[in-house]
Amino acid sequence: METCIFCKIAKGTIPSSKVFENARVLAFLDLNPIALGHTLVVPKVHAETLLDLPADYYADVMGVMAQVGRAVMGLPDVSGFNCLQNNFSVAGQEVMHLHWHVIPRCEGDKILQGRFGSATYGSPEQMQEIAGNLWNSIQKYAR
Ligand code: AMP
Repeated sequence: METCIFCKIAKGTIPSSKVFENARVLAFLDLNPIALGHTLVVPKVHAETLLDLPADYYADVMGVMAQVGRAVMGLPDVSGFNCLQNNFSVAGQEVMHLHWHVIPRCEGDKILQGRFGSATYGSPEQMQEIAGNLWNSIQKYAR
């Protein structure tokens, strides 16, 4: 897509700090890192959200996520990492080209604290009802 910043990075028309690339997936450093080594993993095909990614890319993307995860574990003091992915603006998506954040974590770093709220099911029945609704939707849209 011509106006998409991550498509431009994938094509090399704007620069990035690349950490990995193959025919279908690119990984590069986030310009505004939550931690040093914070990497974005991006399918080269233009897909706005996870719902738009062709299914035959799933394994490619997950494979690169694992490779990047393994690599960030080799950075100084890193002993874990988060993989985060935002879909639609209400969920915090700013760049409308699907991407995963791989965020290195160090003991005691205190990042991402308080980012997530919490919710409580009113009853076991409500929890079961929501699980059933999701189950039915997944059957309906299975591809
Ligand atoms: P999200 O909120 O999940 O859409 O995250 C978008 C991320 O893309 C942000 O963390 C930005 O810092 C990052 N970003 C935007 N433009 C660039 C760029 N040209 N190079 C690297 N990272 C970028």
